[in-house]
Amino acid sequence: MSRGTFELRDPARARELASLLRRHAPPQPVRIVHVCGTHEMAIAQHGLRSLLPEGVEVLEGPGCPVCVTPTVDLDRAAKLALGGAILCTFGDMTRVPGTRLTLADARAQGADVRVVLSAADAVEVARSNPTRNVVFFAVGFETTAPGTAAVLLDRPPENFYVLSSHKLIPPALEALLTRPGRRIAGFLAPGHVSTVIGARAYRAIAEKHHVPIVVAGFEPLDILYAALLVLRQLREGRAEVENAYPRAVTEEGNLRAQALLEEAFEPASARWRGMGTIPDSGLRIREALSAHDAARAFPVEVEEGEEKPPGCRCAEVLLAQALPSDCPLFRVRCTPLTPVGPCMVGSEGACSVWYRYGGRPAL
Ligand code: SF4
Repeated sequence: MSRGTFELRDPARARELASLLRRHAPPQPVRIVHVCGTHEMAIAQHGLRSLLPEGVEVLEGPGCPVCVTPTVDLDRAAKLALGGAILCTFGDMTRVPGTRLTLADARAQGADVRVVLSAADAVEVARSNPTRNVVFFAVGFETTAPGTAAVLLDRPPENFYVLSSHKLIPPALEALLTRPGRRIAGFLAPGHVSTVIGARAYRAIAEKHHVPIVVAGFEPLDILYAALLVLRQLREGRAEVENAYPRAVTEEGNLRAQALLEEAFEPASARWRGMGTIPDSGLRIREALSAHDAARAFPVEVEEGEEKPPGCRCAEVLLAQALPSDCPLFRVRCTPLTPVGPCMVGSEGACSVWYRYGGRPAL
């Protein structure tokens, strides 16, 4: 490496950032929250928690779309599949517990549940099965929702429907900040989501709740640098949005993707597992596209069931109030092969990530 060249995995720069983090550490303990499974993977996989100063902790909040999908949506999807529709969804979703069964259980009972990689794949399933109703169970944040919007707006076949469980990140951040006993000193905003919504999407929240929000990328140096910016703001008494991922995120975001979302969806209250109902945090299909809205076309009744398996602390993990290792079932009864709660199922769930990479390495 020539002198002065920037390298994303430069150990010397990581050591420099670790030393700056120590220098900026506040005297009191602080909790920084991120809401992104990819951030959690990078933090755990690279042992970044070992570089944080004493008293500074970084927790994953509701950053795994699979984990935050409520049981009512899962139960509705299972009912549609058991009722004869072809139910298409992402792989992890088939293993998440609903009230009584998973989608994999529904498949074992004869339902036609298929794993797809995208909404466009589900459209292909509909084209190949013109006599069957095909429902795409759509989960994910602002990163995956434009893909669903694009197929809805692209004249899909008549037998194609979307069951939307898409969710929006900014209302979830605000919900975390308004919970009683808030202990969140700052946020690392998710890089992927921010490429779509732009850094400006967080400005009102930072101002209203006086909380630093730093958009972070996914390389170890990106995350250390973003954490440093949060600590620097805390030290200087500032509460602003800073973009530490300018190579991918702009102030205004991806306007084309935002236009797709706007045309296909409208904000609606949505239930998040572990967090309850958050106003305007979900995406409902607009009236003009209602012919493809599974919720309108097949209004199945489901009861609000128990979201927390006995002993599971997923709700606190999703609220950034507990670490996976705080759960007595972690690694004992709850493993990726025998998941008790959704945070162990979703590959981006904190419990699943900690199981694979460990949480706080002693390096
Ligand atoms: S370890 Fe398992 S049971 Fe415990 S909080 Fe995580 S998912 Fe729930």
